[in-house]
Amino acid sequence: MDNIIEMKNIYKNFYTDEGEITVLQDVNVALERGKILGILGPSGSGKSTLLNILTNLLTPTSGEVKIEGKIGYMFQKDHLLEWRTIMDNITIGLEIQKKVNDEALKRIEHLLKMYGIWEFRNRYPKELSGGMRQRVALIRTLATDPDVLLLDEPFSALDYQTRLMVSDDIYKIIRKEHKDAILVTHDISEAISMCDQIAVLSKRPATVKSLYNISLSVKDKEKTPLVCRKAPEFKDYFDALWKELDVYEGE
Ligand code: ADP
Ligand code: MG
Repeated sequence: MDNIIEMKNIYKNFYTDEGEITVLQDVNVALERGKILGILGPSGSGKSTLLNILTNLLTPTSGEVKIEGKIGYMFQKDHLLEWRTIMDNITIGLEIQKKVNDEALKRIEHLLKMYGIWEFRNRYPKELSGGMRQRVALIRTLATDPDVLLLDEPFSALDYQTRLMVSDDIYKIIRKEHKDAILVTHDISEAISMCDQIAVLSKRPATVKSLYNISLSVKDKEKTPLVCRKAPEFKDYFDALWKELDVYEGE
């Protein structure tokens, strides 16, 4: 099988005031090329820790990580700098890496035109809606031309309606730009509507409880998260995942 990312037997311990805690306990996940993998787990289960290991912000206590390609990271908050224009926000990653060149600028121009941001390039973040800001954040991530996108609850700061629109938006961009992605979320519906596969994390210490292949009767061409939410199988996946998450257990 052709995996672009593999995490094998990952353990992560943290040292806190109360002593050592195990956050990840023998986590195994793989992202296949051309797919979107969802990592679904309750908050505090270790989802961000997992992504931080993939980006090298954290080292695992033990385990193996294989990544074949360049990673781009998109956070829950857009982290746009209010004092920089949209264009200057988008080029910031490249500036830091000293990679602002004609090819990169062309790629950015294409993305901005394609996704309706071109006219806003000289504006400031505060002049944009939450959804537009999130789109800018994605374009900033795409500007470095990553192979894989890591999305850490990228919609959770948005209100419900905006969130539905923006997840459609972002999904289309990911597919159109042929990126693979890992989407971390605690939102069951979001995971089903956006992902090809979902790994469910248990509560802390997190391990992968189960893996779901999502197959909805929606034509590939028409596939968007909003359409997926209306698929007849959606509810069955929802019920199964709801049970897996044990939302009420121990609360
Ligand atoms: P999630 O993203 O699923 O909400 P996190 O990965 O952010 O979960 O955190 C998982 C657990 O690890 C939480 O209990 C959190 O308090 C703990 N944790 C995360 N980072 C650290 C750290 N640097 N030091 C100590 N504990 C941490
Ligand atoms: Mg998190």
